[in-house]
Amino acid sequence: MELSRLAHSRIETHDEEEPPGSLGATTPRTKSRIAPKITPLRRPGEETARFVKLTPTNVPAANPRTAVFRRRFFPETTAREWNDWKWQSRHRIRTLAQMERFLTLSKAEREALVRGGSMLPVGITPYYMSLLAPDDPDHALRRTVVPSTHEFLRTPGEADDPLGEEATSPVPGLVHRYPDRVLLLVLDFCSTYCRYCTRSRVVGHGEIMPSEERLETAIEYIRRTPAIRDVLLSGGDPLALGEDKLDWILTRLRTIPHLEFIRIGTKMPAVLPQRITPSLCKLLRKHRPLWMSLHFLHPDECTPESYHACGRLADAGVPLGSQTVLLKGVNDDVEVMKALVHNLLMMRVRPYYLYQCDPISGSAHFRTSVAKGLEIIEGLRGHTTGYGVPTYVIDGPGGGGKIPLQPNYALGRDGDDLLLRNYEGEIFRYPDPEN
Ligand code: SF4
Repeated sequence: MELSRLAHSRIETHDEEEPPGSLGATTPRTKSRIAPKITPLRRPGEETARFVKLTPTNVPAANPRTAVFRRRFFPETTAREWNDWKWQSRHRIRTLAQMERFLTLSKAEREALVRGGSMLPVGITPYYMSLLAPDDPDHALRRTVVPSTHEFLRTPGEADDPLGEEATSPVPGLVHRYPDRVLLLVLDFCSTYCRYCTRSRVVGHGEIMPSEERLETAIEYIRRTPAIRDVLLSGGDPLALGEDKLDWILTRLRTIPHLEFIRIGTKMPAVLPQRITPSLCKLLRKHRPLWMSLHFLHPDECTPESYHACGRLADAGVPLGSQTVLLKGVNDDVEVMKALVHNLLMMRVRPYYLYQCDPISGSAHFRTSVAKGLEIIEGLRGHTTGYGVPTYVIDGPGGGGKIPLQPNYALGRDGDDLLLRNYEGEIFRYPDPEN
């Protein structure tokens, strides 16, 4: 949409459903009104900076860009409402008409939104929308959440369930692929839907509900399977649940004597950092030890809001790791990935896995070559802090589990010596007699 048109368009409110298990509305709705004069969406210094770069001394309370966005598009929304995760969830952007208020859509984006149909639903929090470039359909973050017609293309090797999760699901919503670990899908709702989601076959379709009956069945399966020592809560996004329901699940799991390790997989710190409230952190602290797998893709997701959200989690004693999906045109670049891992380290998040994108149906436009992934790891290893180098993995299609990939640093043998290449390409000998 032209900026001049935007300036005169009416601000609408979106009466949307509550996410499953949330506690209900607590704030009044924003009234409609005429939008104010358009102002540029730039951060100070953005003209020259390629990425947001966090350092311990440069993090304000909130992103100035997001503040400008809020004043422009939600002028009657108070800071308190904006920072309320339930307000953000209720005001998710989900339709073509809503999307056009914020973005100048390309033909491919518009057509995808019109066709809709069986694809993964659309949902973007107002906060995350504030990070998107309004006029650039190739913008990295925008490509990950705004659909395009590329999603309708099917290419060889793709599947709706590329990891074969359905075949290893003994009870609804529970995947038991490895002997000692299970994946418990607590719900299928996410505040923001990623267009490359491995579980797009179920996510957002209302098929996996957080009913106590279903969850009891899954928890009972874990209880009567002593080999299980580790459970990963995922979905959907488990932190979309209200605290009462989360507390109920964690309390039930903690009564299982053989269960040692509980992890939560969430993208909330990136797409809805307002969800990381003091009361949530208090709840997580109560159920320690808990680990968390976050999902950051790009340095521009590392905003002040996300920085403070991760800080609250870390202060609550939750170890944080990021699982990043390698995506063509989004982060398949050494400098982008280096900026991301540097920001994550500042946020007390350990870059944990770099995933080769699963061959999910309609994902060809997101998949980059394995050679590119190896090039990125090679560009990090030795060139930055070791804590910042994730493990690059392919999840074996059909249920093979995570298979690590490394650039080749061991060149071979010369007699009793192993020949090794370092990060600068120099060759070294290490004495390693065969006997
Ligand atoms: S947050 Fe996770 S489960 Fe939800 S859409 Fe994104 S990748 Fe899928």
